[in-house]
Amino acid sequence: MLGLMQNWPLLVSKLIEHADKFHGKSEIVTLTVEGGTHRYTWSDCHVRSKKVAQALHRMGVGEGDIIGTLAWNTYRHVELWYGISGMGAVAHTINPRLFKDQLIYIANHAEDKVLFLDTSFVPIIEAVADELPNIEAYIFMTDEEHMPETTLKNVYCYETLVEAEDGNYSWPELDENLASGLCYTSGTTGNPKGVLYSHRSNFLHTLVSLGADALGATAKDVFFPVVPMFHANAWGVPYCAAAVGCKLALAGPHFDGETLQKFIEDEGVSLTAAVPTVWLALLAYLQSTGKGVGDLKRVVIGGSAAPRSMIQSFEDDYGVEVCHAWGMTETSPLGSVGVMTRETATWPKEKQLDIKCKQGRPVLGVEMEILDDDGNALPHDGKAFGHLVVRGPWVVKEYMKAEGGDIIDENGWFDTGDVSTLDELGFMQITDRSKDVIKSGGEWISSIELENAAVGHPDVAEAGVIGIFHPKWNERPLLILVLNEGATLDKDSIIKCLEKSVAKWWLPDDIITVDELPHTATGKILKMELREMYKDYKFPNA
Ligand code: ADP
Repeated sequence: MLGLMQNWPLLVSKLIEHADKFHGKSEIVTLTVEGGTHRYTWSDCHVRSKKVAQALHRMGVGEGDIIGTLAWNTYRHVELWYGISGMGAVAHTINPRLFKDQLIYIANHAEDKVLFLDTSFVPIIEAVADELPNIEAYIFMTDEEHMPETTLKNVYCYETLVEAEDGNYSWPELDENLASGLCYTSGTTGNPKGVLYSHRSNFLHTLVSLGADALGATAKDVFFPVVPMFHANAWGVPYCAAAVGCKLALAGPHFDGETLQKFIEDEGVSLTAAVPTVWLALLAYLQSTGKGVGDLKRVVIGGSAAPRSMIQSFEDDYGVEVCHAWGMTETSPLGSVGVMTRETATWPKEKQLDIKCKQGRPVLGVEMEILDDDGNALPHDGKAFGHLVVRGPWVVKEYMKAEGGDIIDENGWFDTGDVSTLDELGFMQITDRSKDVIKSGGEWISSIELENAAVGHPDVAEAGVIGIFHPKWNERPLLILVLNEGATLDKDSIIKCLEKSVAKWWLPDDIITVDELPHTATGKILKMELREMYKDYKFPNA
């Protein structure tokens, strides 16, 4: 027997419609690309999103067309997200930090028909435009006054296009399973692969992300996603903010500690989200200036492991609750969140910190398991580690154009490429990426744990660990450090520091320093390049 409830398609346009109707006066504030601060409301944003949809229709864009954006976090980018998806086209957020060849590959693979771009990215596109045959129009996200000179053809001004429309438009009642957004993984192995979100997957992801044990945004919040809108769906923040009608704060092209601190204080930011490297910059700025974080209550950290010292500093020095989350482009991205349970909340502080360093428990809607090489489930004892697999309604089923083939096993599991443990309480802990784990004499050593332990040393700014061939053990860890300014390498002192947190047989066989570590377009250490750089390295003891 079927239920007798209304069937209301779960569309992203419903989110902004709700924000307009019931939180219309709530604000969106942006530090703009042109310079200065822009303010308006969710109602203004809704009207302009409709105008974007009208302008796209006028340009011949229809359902299923893929529209690229190369843009920072700004109000115009939010209008595009809603305008493009709302009309039935697909918003393809492109990461401007991609390498030239990746950018060309992605835009061509997606067959982007129109590209919206911030003026700061015009030179990047001018350099590759000859290799982008599908793009019919370039729309510069600015007003006439700030339109730059360009060699690009078929260029339009965003404000002129949008302001020519009347906003008298109703969102179509689409099938909720239609694609709404597209985001490519940054491709640390092979070509980047496209993850095609649906209206339904984004809507469900929003509902679950809003839970108090997840991101926990409410109408009272000022939500500041530092995480870019071109990175893993901006962790869904622009959707969550509309769903609860909170104030949304967007910092445009700014990621430096000084601007972030001032913005957080000036705008009364209460909730924010970013990768650890951003927080390192903010904390360093706070420590060097003695400045505070205003009304900030909660910070969401994900994308790579939040170091213990970072969690401790936020909580002890600034009274800010840390919510350590795990996810990936393929999981929309929220997979698990590290908040305390009734039981762990009573534990002594240090033991609580152990738990906060883990990547948290799966949210409802994400099933999680750890498997050995033969696909057998491993015990949830916090010790056994294996391949982390997930499944659920906002987990990828297949990549764009079936790239990479069949990615789901016979039980519906998607292999995340992460290696992790699960403990008795359901907390997951990433121990490594499967390709980065160091295989020493048949046992696995976690490069991430070693890196986290190393950054706990006061002389260390950043650490990367890779496995290097060893004649006896097959692989042993090499620790590569970037030291803080003025520091010199004291290997004994580093080893003593590591000994406090890892087993003796995990200690690196050698430690070297570099001026800089190579990073991916999303700020992670590029292990593949490190391995290439040190492929002829030999341990002194080998
Ligand atoms: P890419 O950087 O390749 O574009 P994602 O941004 O989707 O891909 O990154 C997903 C990966 O980031 C995860 O599979 C995991 O390895 C890592 N990751 C995400 N969150 C965390 C976390 N809290 N701790 C450790 N690793 C994390």
